[in-house]
Formats: sequence, structure tokens, C-alpha cells
Amino acid sequence: PLPVVAVVGRPNVGKSTLVNRIIGRREAVVEDKPGVTRDRVTYEAHWAGRRFKVVDTGGWEQDVLGIDASVAAQAEFAIEAADAVIFVVDSKVGATDTDEAVVKLLRRAGKPVVLCANKVDGASGEADAAMLWSLGLGEPYAVSSLHGRGTGDMLDAVLDVL
Ligand code: GDP
Ligand code: MG
Repeated sequence: PLPVVAVVGRPNVGKSTLVNRIIGRREAVVEDKPGVTRDRVTYEAHWAGRRFKVVDTGGWEQDVLGIDASVAAQAEFAIEAADAVIFVVDSKVGATDTDEAVVKLLRRAGKPVVLCANKVDGASGEADAAMLWSLGLGEPYAVSSLHGRGTGDMLDAVLDVL
């Protein structure tokens, strides 16, 4: 079976946009409203001659449980089933309490994590990305899922831990 990479993070940080970048198609649903992806959706992807599966997650239980619980539940399921995790943070917003909660889940799960500092659309965003060293997950990869900036280096890091 192909290795599985889960993409987790708060609603609206750009997970689905990143997944579309990774698979090279527009299949993961991107919305300005948080919580559009209703369930975990798996796609096949390849990078640097290797094939893997990538799992997009969303905030499906948001209305019932509140946003923190829904993010946590989604992340927990996805992490459990994954060989590696891409944890996406909105570098323009910075690390929130919800992000910190996901970090705790990731630590407990013990799966390899690559930290994606998303929405670094230009050089001026690099400093925002560097702030995310504070999460204690190693190097924040500065990425613009919207424009494709930095996704290659980040995927190289994912393959390294896979
Ligand atoms: P998700 O809820 O985490 O799946 O986030 P989406 O992929 O649906 O994106 C939420 C919003 O963030 C959309 O309006 C995207 O266009 C926007 N977005 C995603 N990636 C980037 C990025 O790299 N830069 C900027 N400026 N916006 C982005
Ligand atoms: Mg989404």
C-alpha cells in the first residue's frame, strides 16, 4: 500500500488549496468559509518519483462540537491513519490556541510532522513563517499554496520522513 500523508490544521488555513497543489488538480474544495470539507478525502499524489496518498481534512463537526473539538477530532482520526502529517498553520494569523492544541495531539501521536507555514505569498511573509519555530515542531516551511511558492521544498521534507 502507498504511504499516507494527512494534511491537518484549523479551518481556513489553506489545507484544501495545498492538497490541490500537491495533486496538481482542482479537486479538493476551497472556500472562503471555514469548514467546507465535510469529511476526510484521500487523493493519490506523486513527488520526486514517489507515489503516496494525501488526505484532506475539514471541520465537519464544527456546528455540534465547536471549532476546537471539531479540529481536534478530525486531526486525531487523520493522524491515526497516517504515516506522516503536514500540519498547516496560517502564517498571517500566527499560532492560535487551537494550533497549540493540535501540536499536543501530534506530540502524543508520535508521527513525523512537517510544519507548513502557509500564506507566505512574498518575501515579506518569511518573518511570519519564522515565528512558527515557537511551536517546537522544527523548521516551518514557508509556503504559498495559492501560488505554489515553497511547496517543493516542503514535499522534499515530507518524503524525507516518509
Ligand atoms: P482549508 O479550510 O484549510 O481547507 O482552507 P482552504 O484551502 O479552503 O482556503 C481558505 C482560504 O485561504 C481560501 O480563500 C484560499 O484561497 C486562501 N488561501 C489558501 N492558501 C493561501 C495562500 O497561500 N495565500 C493566500 N493569500 N491565501 C490562501
Ligand atoms: Mg478544506
